Amino acid sequence: MPLKIEMSPESVRPVVVCDACGEPIVDARDGNYQWQAPVEPGLSRKFVFFTYKRTQSRNRGAVTPPATAPDAS
Ligand SMILES: [Zn+2]
Repeated sequence: MPLKIEMSPESVRPVVVCDACGEPIVDARDGNYQWQAPVEPGLSRKFVFFTYKRTQSRNRGAVTPPATAPDAS
């Protein structure tokens, strides 16, 4: 799950975490989002996966969804 709450003794803040490497995406300009294209045309809802742009280019766009992600169709 890429959206998390980061808690420390000084603060509580939302963070977006890269689904590929698990590191927080600190600057939005470094991040990207991807989703699985539907097999059949028509209305569907898919989970969004957040990644670093550098992670995406290294993996050529292939982000493996987390094993625990439920089917979003
Ligand atoms: Zn990453």
